[in-house]
Amino acid sequence: MSNKLINGKEIGAQIRLTIQKEVKELVDQGITPGLAVILVGDDAASHTYVANKEKACAQLGIYSELIRLPKETTEVELLAHIAKLNTDAKIDGILVQLPLPKHIDEQHVIESISPHKDVDGFHPVSVGKMLLGQPTFLPCTPHGVMKLLQYSNVEIAGKHAVVVGRSHIVGVPMGQLLLQQDATVTYCHSKTPDLAAMTTQADILVVAVGRAKMIKAEHIKEGAVVIDVGMNRDENGKLCGDVDFDDVFEKVAAITPVPGGVGPMTITMLLVNTLQSAKAKVKLA
Ligand code: NDP
Repeated sequence: MSNKLINGKEIGAQIRLTIQKEVKELVDQGITPGLAVILVGDDAASHTYVANKEKACAQLGIYSELIRLPKETTEVELLAHIAKLNTDAKIDGILVQLPLPKHIDEQHVIESISPHKDVDGFHPVSVGKMLLGQPTFLPCTPHGVMKLLQYSNVEIAGKHAVVVGRSHIVGVPMGQLLLQQDATVTYCHSKTPDLAAMTTQADILVVAVGRAKMIKAEHIKEGAVVIDVGMNRDENGKLCGDVDFDDVFEKVAAITPVPGGVGPMTITMLLVNTLQSAKAKVKLA
């Protein structure tokens, strides 16, 4: 059974070892990579994500700074914090934890981050460069999925990849990265009339919807590789993906579990981007 599992925890740990080594080399040259995380308000899930990011930085020797702001913070106040971080030499990456309170325009905030420090890869400059296949910060979750496929020796060129979900942070960039590796890509979303007709054509199926266990055996082609990005709670409050793992398991060639699949890769790729930013600074100096 276990050889069908794409283990994000293990692959993430391997990548983190390399990051740790490279961070040490930079620190020996007097440069400590730095990540600033801004958290506005008291969303419980966001608190957990931010705590995990801080812990991961500490483990790898990356300096991290957490700026906690009350939920009443105005957009102008938040932009002022970002402007300061944009010119702070200790900081190589800036991450504003989403979602933001409703009175703040997320797009304004994303666009106020220097593209040189946009380690989430959400700034329009980063998105544009990604689409053009130019070097840039890649968005962490889809980039993490590409690493999972690479480390699991999944062939991508010439395969039919079906991406369910078209958010700007996961689905859309996911399809683009697969396309750049020569997959034939189909996007599905909430207006796709017959989802199974599309997903059963997938050699590689990536699901990023946010609906617990929606993908069943009937959605899967025998021998497909399935990547489950979803993070949901099932009827018993247990963490689960968008894919019904037990239902599809017999049919798939390989699959990511939830938890322990895509999740650990997202933070790992954030650290990769922070390191990349610090290295770029060294080259510029
Ligand atoms: P969004 O809500 O932004 O996007 C969901 C997408 O799913 C939309 O494109 C929507 O279509 C589509 N969709 C909704 N219902 C259906 C349906 N019935 N059939 C087909 N498509 C449908 O979510 P995100 O992309 O931000 O996140 C998706 C999931 O991934 C969530 O569970 C989230 O928690 C998880 N996630 C996990 C991460 C990790 O590190 N593991 C990181 C980021 C997200 P339409 O555009 O038409 O509305």
